Amino acid sequence: MEFGLSKCAKATFKRGKLRNTKNIVLDDDSIIKELDQEGTYKYLGVNEAIPVVTYSFNIINWNLSELQRLDSEIRKQFTCNRMLHPKSDVDRLYLPRSKGGQFAARANNVDVDTQARHQWFPNILHNGADPKCRFCEDKVETIDHIVSGCSILIPGECKSRHDRVGQYLHWNICNHFSIKTHSNWYEHHPEPVTEGETVTILWDFSIHTDRTIQANRPDIVIKDKKNNLCFLIDMIVPSDRNVSAKTFEKLAKYKDLEIEIEKMWHFKSRTIPEVIGALGLIKKGAKEYLEMIPGNPSLQEIQKIVLNSNTHVSRRALTI
Ligand SMILES: [Zn+2]
Repeated sequence: MEFGLSKCAKATFKRGKLRNTKNIVLDDDSIIKELDQEGTYKYLGVNEAIPVVTYSFNIINWNLSELQRLDSEIRKQFTCNRMLHPKSDVDRLYLPRSKGGQFAARANNVDVDTQARHQWFPNILHNGADPKCRFCEDKVETIDHIVSGCSILIPGECKSRHDRVGQYLHWNICNHFSIKTHSNWYEHHPEPVTEGETVTILWDFSIHTDRTIQANRPDIVIKDKKNNLCFLIDMIVPSDRNVSAKTFEKLAKYKDLEIEIEKMWHFKSRTIPEVIGALGLIKKGAKEYLEMIPGNPSLQEIQKIVLNSNTHVSRRALTI
């Protein structure tokens, strides 16, 4: 392994003040230079201290008081190293330099860019220097991209994850309407049309309407003949940050079909968007949608299915 010494620089602080010291000579050819007075170090510095902690966001459940304690600990270190006066204003420390502050990063900042949270992943997944995704060679290879954004992985791996969630929901619905199924959901293979005594369940089946409608194929359609109800269930496992947008997208997508069904069958119809973030995130109110699905499917189980499938995708990615 070789270090890129040309990018290295050193800065020496004595009692909180930058001092000029000699370059470090490692051998005849390599020297670690003194950082210029006006120079900044791009890779690691004060501004990088907090992002190190953000690597663990989404994995460790940091609570607000822990983050506040972390901020306080960092301020203590600043003071001990004469970078911050013990009586100076705390808020000013976090203000941008243009406003007279020191613009330190704050751990207790809830407005974290979720995409940035996973930017660390390429270096772990990908041992080479090229951060591009090894499958599509187009986008940066982040965990977010691998589990929900890659154009090469989505058709295969992500479709199978989507179908596994559907398989589990279909199995619950069949059980609710006393339709004979296997004892485990993963042994259940949904048929395009399943008939029960008072219900018809459609799986990935186009509904023919009098008026031409583009979105006429929700993942699961439940025609509850006893209660004159029709549920249109459509699932998607998007990137966590798209959970909200995708929920509204699904609701809007099937509006026309809802109206046509009410006209054709005289059934009350409802769209149920089943949107689970690829890393397990759900939108507020998603539980209510899930509760509308007959058979009492468990959110925890769905999250487990999604995360287990991710393990499979990531393992595949790691071995290539
Ligand atoms: Zn890709």
